[in-house]
Amino acid sequence: MSIESIIVIGGGPAGFAVVQRLRRGFFEGAVTLIDPGGVPYDRPPLSKEYLAGSTGREGIAFEPREWFAENEVELLVDRVTSITADTGEVILGSGGTRRADRLVLATGGTAALPLIPGLAQAAEAGTAMTLRTVQDADRLREHLCTGHRLAVIGAGLIGAETASTARELGTEVILIDPVDPPLAAAVGEALARRLHGLHAEHGVQVRTAAVAEFQLRGTSAAAGEDGAVSSAEHSPDAARAWLRILLDDGSELDADAALIGTGMIPQTPLAQEAGLEVDGGIVVDEAFRTAHPAVYAVGDAARVRTSDAVLQPRAEHWEHAVLSGGAAGAALLAEAGPSSGPEPVEAPWFWSDRYGVHVEAVGSMTAPGQTVTRMLDGEPGVSFRLDEDSRVIGCAAIDASQAVRVARRLIARGTVVDPADLADPEVPFKQLMRRR
Ligand SMILES: Cc1cc2nc3c(=O)[nH]c(=O)nc-3n(C[C@H](O)[C@H](O)[C@H](O)COP(=O)(O)OP(=O)(O)OC[C@H]3O[C@@H](n4cnc5c(N)ncnc54)[C@H](O)[C@@H]3O)c2cc1C
Repeated sequence: MSIESIIVIGGGPAGFAVVQRLRRGFFEGAVTLIDPGGVPYDRPPLSKEYLAGSTGREGIAFEPREWFAENEVELLVDRVTSITADTGEVILGSGGTRRADRLVLATGGTAALPLIPGLAQAAEAGTAMTLRTVQDADRLREHLCTGHRLAVIGAGLIGAETASTARELGTEVILIDPVDPPLAAAVGEALARRLHGLHAEHGVQVRTAAVAEFQLRGTSAAAGEDGAVSSAEHSPDAARAWLRILLDDGSELDADAALIGTGMIPQTPLAQEAGLEVDGGIVVDEAFRTAHPAVYAVGDAARVRTSDAVLQPRAEHWEHAVLSGGAAGAALLAEAGPSSGPEPVEAPWFWSDRYGVHVEAVGSMTAPGQTVTRMLDGEPGVSFRLDEDSRVIGCAAIDASQAVRVARRLIARGTVVDPADLADPEVPFKQLMRRR
């Protein structure tokens, strides 16, 4: 059967990459992209430049609105409420229906809200927030200024970046996480400790504890002329809404607002209700096809099962979203006509920025094996993860992108390396590819 129409559900980096690949590959059929958020935009700037106010909504759009008309991509501002895999039918929140020969689920995820007493009420009141959409970033930014105190719950990538941006804007920040140091699974223990240490160096109050309860205090209009309430003014009588946060070590603290950065939940209900396999993500093969021939899934919502039946950990990073979208686009092009076929899936890579420091990591830092750390300027700078045969399987680096670029190639080639070379600052990174 020839493919004459494709509907992509979700316009994040993964969904947009599908659409872009289809048009770049000269797919001639109808392409529809459905997202309630309108013109597709990028998410990493939401905790960085966009939150800081140094770029606006146009600056984070993948392409301007005209691109969609010029490339004959129908952009539907709507939410899909259900799909039928056998017929390719899609039901829209506005009440209409659509149909296509192939559907691509690119629904990403939503920010997790842990079950902590009082959190739902604080979130309802807008005093506790999450960060996943541009609207979330706009709401959060209202709380970032001198004289305001923000509690950041969770010191993972989004929590850490938000703490950094909030400090840049003069906000008082308390960062709360029960793990010390956070992110060791992503970048290894040595780099995680160094990165976590940056918070205190930049004036963040770091607390190693879990939140036991949120208490919403004060409900009516603003106290000060500029709307800000300093921490000293916090009392049950203060006029505006603020939070008392009780920690599991018995202590408590007050904040004007809280950002909850405790992870994301993949958006799988459409797949689940359509009878597709879901196991911590929508299960797909290496070309991002679900078990139903008419449905693909990509990005944060998808989870790959390799050809040797191994279910991979679900990736939650930008590059994976873009590559998976490109790979699904290529597979759809192959179905629609002659093509070079599915593209290889690379080891997952991500980056993060905080306090002017750039972090990158590729592959796995937790798979069985050993971690070798290279000191740079007297501090842990690059950590490599090696398997039992001394093949590089992961790498994380602080301000050393070249090391990660080299590691990507070593991972792709399965190169065996000498751990002593990895640890030795005198051995140039590029030379690692020539050894052994
Ligand atoms: C604040 C923030 C900062 C980040 N920073 C980094 C970083 O520095 N480095 C990095 O590697 N990664 C970063 N990430 C992660 C990266 O942005 C994600 O991995 C990526 O956005 C996932 O892309 P996606 O297209 O799969 O999902 P999403 O970006 O979540 O997009 C999914 C889209 O689907 C739409 N959708 C959902 N359900 C429906 C429905 N039923 N009908 C229609 N549309 C629907 C949503 O509206 C959304 O637009 C960050 C993420 C966030 C939130």
